[in-house]
Amino acid sequence: MSECTIVIGAGVAGMAAASKLKEAGKKVVVVEASDHAGGRMVRLTRNGDFVEAGAQGIHTNYTETLKLVEKYGLTKDIIHQSNDQTCFLSRTGEKLFPAGHMGIFKMLGLRGSLDLGRFLTRHMLMMKDFSLFETHRDIPEYDDISVADALKWAGPAFRDFVLLPGAHAMVGTDLNHTNLYHFLNLMKLVLTTKVMTLRNGLASLPEAIASTLDVRYSSPVRTLLIDGQKITGVELESGERIHGSHVVIACPIGAAAKIIPDHLAPTKDFLSSFPNVPLSLVYFYLDQPLDTKAYCYFGHAYRRTTFNMALNHTVKTPHLVPSGKGIISAWPCYPDSAVIDRLTDTEVKDKALRDMEIFFPGIAGMVEHAYVQRHRWGLSRMEPRIHAKILAFKQQAERLPGVLFANSDYDGVHMESGVRAGLRAAAKVMSTS
Ligand SMILES: Cc1cc2nc3c(=O)[nH]c(=O)nc-3n(C[C@H](O)[C@H](O)[C@H](O)COP(=O)(O)OP(=O)(O)OC[C@H]3O[C@@H](n4cnc5c(N)ncnc54)[C@H](O)[C@@H]3O)c2cc1C
Repeated sequence: MSECTIVIGAGVAGMAAASKLKEAGKKVVVVEASDHAGGRMVRLTRNGDFVEAGAQGIHTNYTETLKLVEKYGLTKDIIHQSNDQTCFLSRTGEKLFPAGHMGIFKMLGLRGSLDLGRFLTRHMLMMKDFSLFETHRDIPEYDDISVADALKWAGPAFRDFVLLPGAHAMVGTDLNHTNLYHFLNLMKLVLTTKVMTLRNGLASLPEAIASTLDVRYSSPVRTLLIDGQKITGVELESGERIHGSHVVIACPIGAAAKIIPDHLAPTKDFLSSFPNVPLSLVYFYLDQPLDTKAYCYFGHAYRRTTFNMALNHTVKTPHLVPSGKGIISAWPCYPDSAVIDRLTDTEVKDKALRDMEIFFPGIAGMVEHAYVQRHRWGLSRMEPRIHAKILAFKQQAERLPGVLFANSDYDGVHMESGVRAGLRAAAKVMSTS
């Protein structure tokens, strides 16, 4: 049998795996469904302006990602984001721009500030230890409960100005549809690190790695090939078969579920039933600059609507927007995001534009162009009791001969999770060949 390793997917996880294998002198071929590398690291380009339309930032504790950034000569391209000013709608719809810690305390009021202190003490300072980038242990106290149930002591100000915006921005859901485990993971990440981007967009990392590898684009995998119990290669949608000693599956869980043969029932069942957050983001390109220093807008204290978060890319990543004109993206969250996913682009744009009006009065008259970026998988949704299931799956998946999973989706959802999963998969290939 060929000693080649086949990596499915040219996202950052697949690139990390393939890069490590190539470095070790192994033969590796990457098969990618689309015509480009990057997966959920997406750069949109229009008239010389760029925006991040997938992953938004590299955190300072993404150690393995940063090693790749260095290895592929991109350290000079790192740009630290300031992300200083956020805007919140008050309960009456007034725009609040809290400045620094004092501004936050003033916005939260006495009860909200006390709730914040309680949360930070109980859940950050005294947090049980777990990896942010790998699901490696079950903590039932965190896993078995939704954020809504775990933090039901929270008063309205803390819930509306911290918990709801936090869940929306970081885990893509409301408080009922994510477990405490995942929420604490993301909160810790945001509160203890800073965010960076790359001069030419985050996709420049997987693109740089891909340029050194044998990547076959527009080659979606239909299924895995099996001989007895062992995975021996892949069959592409075109019917072509590629044989190899190992297959590394580095595509989103939903895509992985489709290529697993039916008779690998426990694996397929787990992947097919994994909950996710589809994300349809709407990018509005404006014909003029916007007079604001806020990079992010939240409306949760004022209203309950679908697109309740907006990013102002001209402030967030000015190095990517040389025109200086406003570029706004509108973000839905689960469960609304699942409803939006079924609408047409026109319907999604109309809804998003209406929801943006309160943040940016008159925006409808400034829009030059609008684009809907669909992430059909988006983010995985860590519902209560999912960590225990992930751990059981991992144990069982490790026993499948010839196949490795390099997946960010059940290991914390961050791009660093994908990189580390890719590196672990490569290490296993090397230890078994
Ligand atoms: C809107 C959004 C914002 C995010 N923001 C952040 C952030 O700020 N920070 C952060 O750390 N993470 C963020 N993430 C998560 C981050 O983008 C992902 O963790 C990471 O990019 C996943 O990398 P991956 O390689 O595991 O998967 P992907 O990037 O999804 O790559 C998988 C690849 O597999 C390919 N593929 C699929 N099916 C097949 C098939 N059958 N055959 C061959 N190829 C196939 C796909 O085309 C794709 O290129 C965000 C995600 C989204 C959607």
